[in-house]
Amino acid sequence: MEMDDNKRRRSMIIYVLIAIVVYLVLNTFLFPNMRTGQVQITDVSYTQLLDDLEEKKVDKVQYTTNDASVLYTLKGDDEGKAYQTTAMPTDADLTNRIQDAGATLDVVVPDEDSGLMMYYLLTFILPIAVFFLFGWWLNRRMKKAMGDDGPSMNFGGGFGGMGGGGLGKSGARIVASKDVGVTFKDVAGQEEAKESLKEVVDFLENPKRYEEIGARLPRGALLVGPPGTGKTLLAKAVAGEAGVPFFSISGSEFVEMFVGRGAAKVRDLFKQANEKAPCIVFIDEIDAVGKRRDQGLSTNDEREQTLNQLLTEMDGFDNHKGIVVLAATNRPDSLDPALLRPGRFDRRVPVELPDLAGRKAILELHAKDVKVQPPIDLSAIARATPGASGADLANLINEGALRAVRQGRTKALQEDFEESVEVVIAGQQRKSTVLSDHEKQVVAYHEIGHAIVAANMKEGAPVTKITIVPRTSGALGYTMQVEEDERFLTTKQEVLDKLAVYCGGRAAEELIFGEMTTGAANDIEQATKLARNMITRFGMSDEFGMMALGTVQNAYLNQDTSLTCAPGTAERIDEAVLRTIEHAHQRALQVLRENKFKLHELARYLYKKETITGDEFMTLLKRENPLMPPKPQA
Ligand code: ADP
Ligand code: MG
Ligand code: ZN
Repeated sequence: MEMDDNKRRRSMIIYVLIAIVVYLVLNTFLFPNMRTGQVQITDVSYTQLLDDLEEKKVDKVQYTTNDASVLYTLKGDDEGKAYQTTAMPTDADLTNRIQDAGATLDVVVPDEDSGLMMYYLLTFILPIAVFFLFGWWLNRRMKKAMGDDGPSMNFGGGFGGMGGGGLGKSGARIVASKDVGVTFKDVAGQEEAKESLKEVVDFLENPKRYEEIGARLPRGALLVGPPGTGKTLLAKAVAGEAGVPFFSISGSEFVEMFVGRGAAKVRDLFKQANEKAPCIVFIDEIDAVGKRRDQGLSTNDEREQTLNQLLTEMDGFDNHKGIVVLAATNRPDSLDPALLRPGRFDRRVPVELPDLAGRKAILELHAKDVKVQPPIDLSAIARATPGASGADLANLINEGALRAVRQGRTKALQEDFEESVEVVIAGQQRKSTVLSDHEKQVVAYHEIGHAIVAANMKEGAPVTKITIVPRTSGALGYTMQVEEDERFLTTKQEVLDKLAVYCGGRAAEELIFGEMTTGAANDIEQATKLARNMITRFGMSDEFGMMALGTVQNAYLNQDTSLTCAPGTAERIDEAVLRTIEHAHQRALQVLRENKFKLHELARYLYKKETITGDEFMTLLKRENPLMPPKPQA
C-alpha cells in the first residue's frame, strides 16, 4: 500500500509540474500577444483603428495571423495602454494604411499546433490536473485523519479511466486483520453456522493442505438469514479467526454508483483481494446486485453488468491462493440462479433467528459489558423475547443500561432489562398519548377480553403481561403471552385457540359496549392471515385438505401468501377464511359471556393500574368473588 501511494503521489506531482512549465513556455515564446499582463487593453471597433491610422496617431501595430486580431498602441499614450480589435482578413489595404500612418507593424504567426495545444491545455488538461491535485490532496488528508491503516477513501474515482493514475480504486473497505477485532467468541448462539464456517477458517489458514489432497473448497458461501442475526458479524469473525484481511462492500453501494462504475468496482475489488490473498471478500446485501435477471420488464443494465462482472471474477480467481467470498442476504430466493451454481456461492450457511438458548447466550454476551446489580435473570428475558434477533437483544441490553443511567443509577437492575423488552418487542412506552376516559375503558375491556379468552383456551400460552399504556408502535394496549418453552410445531387446536384469542378483544367491546371500534384492526389482520394460512398452507381445512393453495415468497419477511389456485377456488378460500374467523369469534363471545363478571372486575382493575402482570391476572381470575355469583361450571 505504501509503495503504491508514494508512486502515485510522485507521478501526480510530475504531471502538474509539466503542465505548469508547458504553460509558461507557450505563454512566453509563442504567444507574445498574450503577454498583456500589465497592459490595459481597450476593445475598439475596426473603424476606430482605421480612424486612428488616418489621423496618424498609431505608434505600433501587432497583427496575429491566425485570428486576425490587431493590438495597437497610440503615440503619446502611457506605456501599458493598448487597443485591440479584429481586422478583416481580406482587407489587403491594411498594410498600406499602416505604412502610410508611419506606424511600425509586427506580424505574429503562431504555430498552428501549439495553438491548439494551448487551447487544450487551458480548457481541458489544466482543469483536470487541478482536479486531480485536489483529489490527491483530499485523499492524503483523509488518510492522515484516519491513520494510515484506516479505510482507503476514494476521491475522483469517476475519472479513473481518464487519469490512468490509479485513482479509480474500488473503495472497498480494507481492514487489516488485526483491526477486524472479532472472532467466533463474539458470536453467541449460531453454533451450526460457526461449525460450517470453521472449515473456511481452516482453509484460509492452510490452503496448502487442501491443495495437496486435491480438495476443491467452495469459493463462496452465502450467509442466509433475517436482518440482525449476525451475518456481518460472522463474516468478520471468519477473517478474525483466520487472521486474514477483510474486504467488505455492500450490494446497495454498487447500485448507487455511476453508470459503468459497478463493474469496474468489482474488478478492482478482486484485484485488491488477489494481491492480499489469503483474505475474505464480503459482499453484504448481495440481493441488491444479484437479483434474478429475468424479473420484470424494466432491466437495469448497470446492475446486470455488475452482476456479470461478479460472476466472471468468481469464476476467474485462483482459489489456491485462498480467497473466500462470503455474501449475506435475507432473500436467497430472489438471487439469480447463476450466482448459486457450483464454483460460485454453492454453499449456504443458514443464520437463523436465535432460539431460547441462543437468545440467552446473546444476552449474556452483551450484558458482560454492562455493570449490573444482582439478581439478574437473563433467561426470563430470553423467554420473553421470542422472535428477537441478535441485534434486537444487543439493543435491549443497551436500552436497559440507558434506563439505569436515566434513573440516576450506576448499575442496571433486572427491572431495567424487563422494561427494555417492550422497547424491542412493542416500541417504547408513550405516556403522552392521552386517551379519553371512555377510550381507556374500551381499551381495558378489549385487552382483558383477549386475556380471558387466552386463559380459557386449552392450548394457549400463559398471559404474562397486560397493559393499556400506549406504545410508539401505535398500539393502545397489548396483552403479552409467552410460551413456556420454545415451540416449533403448532397443532390445529392451537391455531384455532389463537384465532379465538385474536377475536377476544373485539368480542369484549361488543359484549360490554354494544359497539365496534377501530382498535381491533391489527387483531383482524393477524387473524385473517392466520386463518388463510391454515387453509392455503397448513392443510388444516375440511374443504381443501392437504393441498397447497398458496406460496409465501419469503417467510423471513413475514410476507403474505400469494394464491396459486383457480379464481373459483380463491373465492371459496375467502368464504372458508370468513367461516373460520367467524367461528373463532363466536367461541370468544361464548367464553366472555360465561365470564362476564370477571371481565368487568379485571377490566376495572386494569383500568386503574394500567399495567398488570400475568400473575396478578391469574390470581384475580381464579379468586372467588363473594359479591358475584360463581362462574357456571361447564
Ligand atoms: P446482520 O448482518 O445479520 O444484519 P449484524 O451482524 O450486522 O447482523 O448484527 C448486528 C449486531 O447485532 C452485531 O454487531 C452484534 O452486536 C449483534 N448481534 C447479532 N447477532 C449476534 C450474535 N449471534 N451474537 C452476538 N451479537 C450479535
Ligand atoms: Mg449486516
Ligand atoms: Zn386487540
